[in-house]
Amino acid sequence: MNMAVKLKVKSAFVKSMKSGFPLIKKEAILNMNDLEKEGSLIELIDDKGMFLGKGYYGKQNKGIGWVLTQQEKEVINQAYFDKKIKKAIDDRKGFFRDKETTAFRVFNGEGDGIGGLTIDYFDGYFLINWYSEGVYHFKDEVIQAIKNTGSFKGIYEKKRFAENGTYIEDDGFIEGERAPYPLIIKENGMNFAVYLNEGAMVGIFLDQRDVRQAIRDKYASGKNVLNTFSYTGAFSVAAAAGGAFKTTSVDVANRSESKTIEQFSLNGIDFEAQDIIVEDVFNYFKYAVRKKLVFDLVILDPPSYARSKKHTFSAAKDYPSLLEKAVAITEKNGVIVASTNCSTFGMDKFKGFIDKAFREAGSKYKILEEFRLPSDFKTIGTFKEGNYLKVVFIKKLT
Ligand code: SAH
Repeated sequence: MNMAVKLKVKSAFVKSMKSGFPLIKKEAILNMNDLEKEGSLIELIDDKGMFLGKGYYGKQNKGIGWVLTQQEKEVINQAYFDKKIKKAIDDRKGFFRDKETTAFRVFNGEGDGIGGLTIDYFDGYFLINWYSEGVYHFKDEVIQAIKNTGSFKGIYEKKRFAENGTYIEDDGFIEGERAPYPLIIKENGMNFAVYLNEGAMVGIFLDQRDVRQAIRDKYASGKNVLNTFSYTGAFSVAAAAGGAFKTTSVDVANRSESKTIEQFSLNGIDFEAQDIIVEDVFNYFKYAVRKKLVFDLVILDPPSYARSKKHTFSAAKDYPSLLEKAVAITEKNGVIVASTNCSTFGMDKFKGFIDKAFREAGSKYKILEEFRLPSDFKTIGTFKEGNYLKVVFIKKLT
């Protein structure tokens, strides 16, 4: 690998870098112009030339790179990647042994020591997500490191570093054998269809595993369930598996209907007894109010940011009003599951949104339970933004 570029950290940022903040922000660097090629190694120094850390140059929406080590003697080479990936896989031994759950995250970016890189495991297949052109320069090392940890069926990748931070459409197959289409994975005994090589998303969000389990085991029995922003209906499957009276799944994307039918069918659930509606959630709320529909369990899991024909939704701005609409169609003593993956605000602010929504709706509530990322989505205390998932189970009292 090439020679490291020395970057001077502005004094205002030195303390946080020393304490282990892993993201290299553009505004923290004095000599940005010295950076040329993404994938270059970086050595961070303070204004007196003291060593702060080593990292790489890779542009993401969040920053311009990640710290890889704070140890001056540590060399960023194959052995470095071997060590990080082996440790991450060792940390997930319990998941690898669990016969009821065959899909989970094995490497969670900065949480496991390398920002900009995640690796998920789907029943024998590894799926690597590259979040910058810079980290993609370490492709050979990362693949070799995965191989060095043992056997697998195949390896896939997704390049998530197009111009605006989106996904580059490409054949993501790297090596081994190609996965079945779909690949059926298990999660706490439920089945889900996963497509490793079909666009940016595979069909299931693994970070919601504990939430799906809670819905199935504690909240669904006998309930009339509304699942909004339902995607492939994974929450609806969990609710139906937990004995829901009925589920209604609403998503604006056409693909969601066939995908939801598929997930129900894989679990022996009669999809014809469920409602699957392709529509803008905001229209559906109006319809539900008009028809006086009410639900016992309402699940809200909007994207952080979405633009439809009529609507722009930004979680940081619009979550309170979304929640207020949900409160209006929730039974007294019913439960709302409010979820967000928005990393620009924390749990305190999210609870503020919840409070605001119930106040505006003239209702009282009680928080029953909260979820953050599951243990395989490892996070570090020095990077709070990395712990993005916030899910709150709220009981509507009046
Ligand atoms: N809850 C899902 C994941 C949601 S992903 C799960 O557990 O798997 C976000 C989904 O919101 C996408 O499927 C997208 O199509 C949908 N979406 C975005 N804006 C929407 C809108 N205004 N109305 C309905 N669905 C919307």
